[in-house]
Amino acid sequence: MTEGSDTIFSKIIRREIPAQIVFENDKVLAFRDISPQAPTHILVIPKQALKDLASAQPQDAALLGELLLAVAAIARKEGLEAGGYRVVINNGAGAGQTVFHLHMHILGGRKFAWPPG
Ligand code: 5GP
Repeated sequence: MTEGSDTIFSKIIRREIPAQIVFENDKVLAFRDISPQAPTHILVIPKQALKDLASAQPQDAALLGELLLAVAAIARKEGLEAGGYRVVINNGAGAGQTVFHLHMHILGGRKFAWPPG
């Protein structure tokens, strides 16, 4: 597995900086985005640092599955299913990635355009 460098998300995992945590298990942490782009905007991250999706290896398959299942469970708990929600992974700076620790955005509570900007 490719380790992400020590990012702001590693500090959130270690509780060195605060975050509004909405879900946690032994492999996954989820917390509210500090700069929400929708009424509900949650980030879901692996505790084991992986810098981006492109770095994932076959041995990360179970972890990636855990992340997606956590996304669906959190969206359900947040009441987003009825209205729909969007799940986004920005891979690389060109796609808008700013924190190089893999994360899935859950966005909900408003309408979303397609194609995305
Ligand atoms: P990216 O642009 O890499 O896909 O997403 C990074 C996200 O992390 C952004 O939506 C940004 O608002 C969020 N973020 C950056 N720093 C912090 C922080 O310290 N706390 C929280 N909760 N979110 C952060």
